[in-house]
Amino acid sequence: MAEAAAGEKSGKVVIRNIGLVLSGDIERPILDADTIVVVDGVIVAVGRDKDCDQSRAMTVIDARRTCVAPGLIDSHVHPVFGDWTPRQNQLGWIDSTMNGGVTTMISAGEVHLPGRPKDIVGLKALAITAQRAFDNFRPGGVKVLAGAPILETGMTEQDFKDLAESGVSLLGEVGLGSVKAGAEARQMVAWARKHGIQSTIHTGGPSIPGSGLIDKDVVLEADADVIGHINGGHTALPEAQVCELCEKSSRAIEIVHNGNERIAIAAAKAAIQLKCPHRVILGTDGPAGSGVQPLGLLRMIALLSSLGGIAAERVFCFATGNTARLRKLNCGLIEPGRDADFVFMDRAQHTAGRTLLESVQLGDIPGVGMVMIDGLVRCGRSRNTPPATEIPVVVPVAR
Ligand SMILES: [Zn+2]
Repeated sequence: MAEAAAGEKSGKVVIRNIGLVLSGDIERPILDADTIVVVDGVIVAVGRDKDCDQSRAMTVIDARRTCVAPGLIDSHVHPVFGDWTPRQNQLGWIDSTMNGGVTTMISAGEVHLPGRPKDIVGLKALAITAQRAFDNFRPGGVKVLAGAPILETGMTEQDFKDLAESGVSLLGEVGLGSVKAGAEARQMVAWARKHGIQSTIHTGGPSIPGSGLIDKDVVLEADADVIGHINGGHTALPEAQVCELCEKSSRAIEIVHNGNERIAIAAAKAAIQLKCPHRVILGTDGPAGSGVQPLGLLRMIALLSSLGGIAAERVFCFATGNTARLRKLNCGLIEPGRDADFVFMDRAQHTAGRTLLESVQLGDIPGVGMVMIDGLVRCGRSRNTPPATEIPVVVPVAR
């Protein structure tokens, strides 16, 4: 079930009898719909049963009144190659994370590669190789956007031009290499931006022995597109500085699982107070010293909703549509033209919450009943979440 042949097309897929459609759009997080129609991996219709053309479907899914949301996007991961991480010597972590509802992952640098090259030719070669490798191989079907070079002193504009022309579209976390000064980082971030490469900066204390502090002045001066793990990875800046970053910068506010939870809540609340909830995006920062986190995004959603007092349907947008828009991805939103990447969820068995959203607001994580990527079913009942009360079923189609 997990591995589809390369280039396999979903054909026409009808998902009916949906109990709740979460759109991923922070302006309108819940849709008035119970049916989604997909053709060859792309959403073509979202609406009421009677209004959707359901004829000649190759696959029909009865959602059994469960919730369909866009597949979760992990804005901050550190992959290496394949479905292996040397950080904790673990195999299958990406497939495990797909079982936690994640359908897209964005690399913040392949920093855990043993013997990672730090010379400029070497770091460029690694980025290009990682981009190609994950483009050609999707563990569990997950879209891993990788090839995120770590900036080192001495890089010139030509290097960024070369990287962009070779298909690299991301920078690894600024600050993990030898470029740590604000002015130097700012110049390289600007070169990257000029050539269409998106940037993320490490924020807070060192992650592991050998990395360093990036304080709020460096973050503001560098002006990267994403304020990476604003709640630290794991050591956070003081709360007042985090709130100052939210206020003075207009860039994406990334909150991660592998960070300070109290500051995670403070940052999300600051964004809402500043009337910019669309800037909040979520990641795990895994694999990390704290491990591989297959349920990391679901746990972040439950944390921010329950302890942050933010409506669950809005918090789901932090992990879907907000990230898609800020990172210019075609997934993360349920609307025609978008990739058919979905997570089907229901309230976990025996939660105190009466509905899925209420259970999340009470701090429980949902049960995942199915994950679909590009219109193809990648897993049924999750092997990792608590069991969902109800799960969708694939209905036999008469031919
Ligand atoms: Zn970091």
